[in-house]
Amino acid sequence: MAYKYVDNYREQGARKKLVDELRKKGIEDENVLQAIGKIPRHYFFDETFWKQAYKDIAFPIGEGQTISQPYTVAYQTELLHIKKGDRVLEIGTGSGYQACVLAEVGAKVFTIERQEKLYERTRNLLPRMGYKAHFFLGDGSKGIASHAPYDKIIVTAGAPTVPETLLSQLKIGGTLVIPVGDERSQQMVTILKTGENDYERHVLDTFRFVPLVGERAW
Ligand code: SAM
Repeated sequence: MAYKYVDNYREQGARKKLVDELRKKGIEDENVLQAIGKIPRHYFFDETFWKQAYKDIAFPIGEGQTISQPYTVAYQTELLHIKKGDRVLEIGTGSGYQACVLAEVGAKVFTIERQEKLYERTRNLLPRMGYKAHFFLGDGSKGIASHAPYDKIIVTAGAPTVPETLLSQLKIGGTLVIPVGDERSQQMVTILKTGENDYERHVLDTFRFVPLVGERAW
């Protein structure tokens, strides 16, 4: 079934401008920029708010949650250095936009959301847009053990600490990208798993995410 929304020159032009803006802000990975240039972000918005879809802002998606700012999506995806076929676990499906970007750059996507309404909405929307992902409902702070290990893990909500379980579900050579901090601001942390119990950790820029809520989180 074709998706009911349209994607015409107006939206395509706005998308091109957004890509230029992200490039100016420092995003360099052409695969990521191409993905953002291709995915109709307005499909994730109520039609009343389409004008907001190509601004570089986070926006409410219901249930007190947000679709992440395009810059943040691009920044986190770039840090993952995804290779075609990488098994990527996303914690915090939300709107599904980040999952589409991951799929577009070649990932095999496993994504988990704790809010049932968002989970239902997104697992219906993405296939209609032509995107494949494996959808799970539950507490992603514990990861998804049944499908581990993963090449990459991305957390799209702010965590108080790095959940050990996520590190244990990462392959050696794999990367975790997670915002860590308090409720007001978090620093983006990348952790490269270099051995069974060895990690290389980098603390990067500051962001503001909705909280990661769960057993190994807030
Ligand atoms: N990746 C999303 C997107 O592209 O729209 C961003 C969504 S929002 C910034 C973060 C999401 O994480 C929210 O939908 C929230 O319900 C979800 N979340 C928070 N804690 C969670 C947990 N423990 N497990 C799974 N999802 C969680």
